[in-house]
Amino acid sequence: MRWKIGEVAVTKVVELEQELPLRGLLPRASEEALAPHQAWLMPYFIDDEGMTDLSIHAFLIESSGLRIIVDTCVGDRNMAGLPGFTGDPAFLKRLTAAGFPPESIDIVCCTHLHFDHVGWNTKLEDGKWVPTFPNARYLFGRAEYDAWIAEPGGYAWNLPDTVAPVVEAGLVDLVDPDHRITSEVRFIPTPGHSPGHMSVLIESNGARALITGDATHHPVQWAETDWGMSGDWDGVEAADSRREMRAEHGDTGTLILGTHYAAPSAGYIVSVGGEWQFHATTETEF
Ligand SMILES: [Zn+2]
Repeated sequence: MRWKIGEVAVTKVVELEQELPLRGLLPRASEEALAPHQAWLMPYFIDDEGMTDLSIHAFLIESSGLRIIVDTCVGDRNMAGLPGFTGDPAFLKRLTAAGFPPESIDIVCCTHLHFDHVGWNTKLEDGKWVPTFPNARYLFGRAEYDAWIAEPGGYAWNLPDTVAPVVEAGLVDLVDPDHRITSEVRFIPTPGHSPGHMSVLIESNGARALITGDATHHPVQWAETDWGMSGDWDGVEAADSRREMRAEHGDTGTLILGTHYAAPSAGYIVSVGGEWQFHATTETEF
């Protein structure tokens, strides 16, 4: 999947897709609560049984001559207790096949430091975790990094394998939540799911796209901004971030690229009869 936003290109490379009940992800998504949204969520984001596909993928941005990977999935490791979330060793081959060999990446952006966003920061070589993208600067949010260093664990359990080696290699820049990456691409602060969570905004030739990170996990959260994910660090702040994003990007033509949305993973926040919906688009390369 590849999209054009003005002069910027974005390519999606999938690591894995896991089918699960939406309610397992969003506890408030009961059958009854979902009913009013069923029609516009189908066929991509929900089925008759309330099942959804959680996609774990990276977005590759080409902007101003730079190649940027946003979020690096689970990586080459088993997830104890989460058998559906074991990383796929073939991911790097797919990245290369899509035209992005690891050594060609200039910038690695992690929207936050949970395990499924930092995994391929490193790879195992002779029993040692080494940077997968040796020629890149790795950008981590300063607030996010400081919070997890102060209080390790939780969904950021594998930082010693995924973050510490790139810090030690001198490849990391800790950045502010509105850090500009190129003239067309910048972070925006969207805290709540994690302490220093950031999303990525692309603006080029009047076109806009927003890479959500985990500010949302599923398109229904644009309609039901209060529906948190079970792992949110601060549910109230996460809901506030979603409402701010919706106010800024609803009904504007901003292409929303969902970091965990099932294929086609893209669409628009639109109001219909006073209610918010998310309309998927299967158009690519537009
Ligand atoms: Zn995630």
